[in-house]
Amino acid sequence: MSRVGIYGGTFDPIHNGHLRVITELISRDIVDEIILIPAGDPQLRSNPPVASGLYRLAMCEIALADLPDQIGRAVEVSSIEIERIGPTYTIDTVTSIQKAMPQAQLLLIVGSDAYANFAKWHRMEELTKLVEIIVINRPHHPGGATLDIGALDVSATEIRSGESQLVPPSVAQYIKENGLYASQ
Ligand code: ATP
Repeated sequence: MSRVGIYGGTFDPIHNGHLRVITELISRDIVDEIILIPAGDPQLRSNPPVASGLYRLAMCEIALADLPDQIGRAVEVSSIEIERIGPTYTIDTVTSIQKAMPQAQLLLIVGSDAYANFAKWHRMEELTKLVEIIVINRPHHPGGATLDIGALDVSATEIRSGESQLVPPSVAQYIKENGLYASQ
């Protein structure tokens, strides 16, 4: 049975911390493949993404192209949430993936900061029946983790503000060329 990691986030932008998660999960043989899913652009969220869905999707593709072949070929970027109208709920995404891949074992990948709010996720109890959850230990967010991968101390917030540069060079260039974040 193929083990498929579902890795969602705003990826605004994707950074080296996300890429380490992907690289470690594949190279440690915890999953066979990963579906990387940038979130949509919900209208009602208090902190909507700064870059549009299409830009965030493009940055994910660009970042993966720079990974070693053995890792990159095990990862697919999905536009399923960006194309969906209305709010983004993980349960809807997981249900669609399960229909498309009925034989797969699905593992949901979340950082310990995101997992701290898990109890508030839409239809959370149903979700826990469909997926195994891997909680990655993230610096400054202790508690709840089930896997320590030596996560990098970087956030997309720090990239957007210019406080950190920990993105692949190709992503840095794309951000600059498209003027995505005021500070870059
Ligand atoms: P922001 O600063 O805009 O909130 P972020 O850096 O937390 O963004 P997200 O796109 O929100 O990035 O994260 C997607 C997923 O990746 C979440 O589950 C989050 O916990 C996890 N994640 C983010 N950064 C890291 C990191 N440095 N190490 C491990 N996991 C991370």
